[in-house]
Amino acid sequence: MRKKIIAGNWKMNKSLEDGLALASEVTNMASDEVSSEVTMIMCTPDIHLSAVSGIAKDATNVTVGAQNMSEHESGAYTGDLSAEMIISAGASFVIIGHSERREYHFETNQQLADRVKLAIAKGLTPIFCCGESLETREANEHVGFVNNQLKESLFDLSAEDMKKVVIAYEPIWAIGTGVTASSDQAQEMHLSIRNSLAGQFGQEVADEISILYGGSMKPANAQELLAQPDVDGGLIGGASLKARDFIDIAKSY
Ligand code: PEP
Repeated sequence: MRKKIIAGNWKMNKSLEDGLALASEVTNMASDEVSSEVTMIMCTPDIHLSAVSGIAKDATNVTVGAQNMSEHESGAYTGDLSAEMIISAGASFVIIGHSERREYHFETNQQLADRVKLAIAKGLTPIFCCGESLETREANEHVGFVNNQLKESLFDLSAEDMKKVVIAYEPIWAIGTGVTASSDQAQEMHLSIRNSLAGQFGQEVADEISILYGGSMKPANAQELLAQPDVDGGLIGGASLKARDFIDIAKSY
């Protein structure tokens, strides 16, 4: 059965003190209120990873992830973060290819392919982000655009490695805008992604991959989105910064 995942992307928010308070609240509330079938992930700023991992270490359904990772193992890459550093800080997931990184840091599909491979080789679970701009959707090119992102960053993987990837479909026009994809729009794209994975890796592999929706998910719309057959969870930005909202989303299953 596919894993149900509710991942929070804190982005560049929270001081260490505020981040630790949020992590403690989420961890305590999750153990009391959230089904053990749901994996909750807090993707924190790099500098908070180790301390937040310490808070979540005994939790059964809360874990920690990074927001980005270098495609290089180590060396002269000032300011970058390696897979080994992420693991040594206690995290087990890493977001790769968030649209904000693609846009502001010009990350390419090939670079992301290298990062996904390295993350898997080191034992991290990549949360690979894909999704189209408003312009691409309005030109009705969203299906082809997302398929190309998958093809160029994931299709070189072996079937065994593909099973270790989590995908997040995040239409750029819905991220941080308050505009959410309708449940029909989300289901259409999630099914299209799964079909594309099935075409390359076989249906059995495609059926095992968790595909998360991201884009202004909040307690008020989570239930409808998460009820779609091919939506296996959420990647949540703004609403993951408030413990109550983040937990309520995870309780929407
Ligand atoms: C995100 O950054 O991945 C995201 C989905 O943000 P928000 O929930 O704020 O739209």
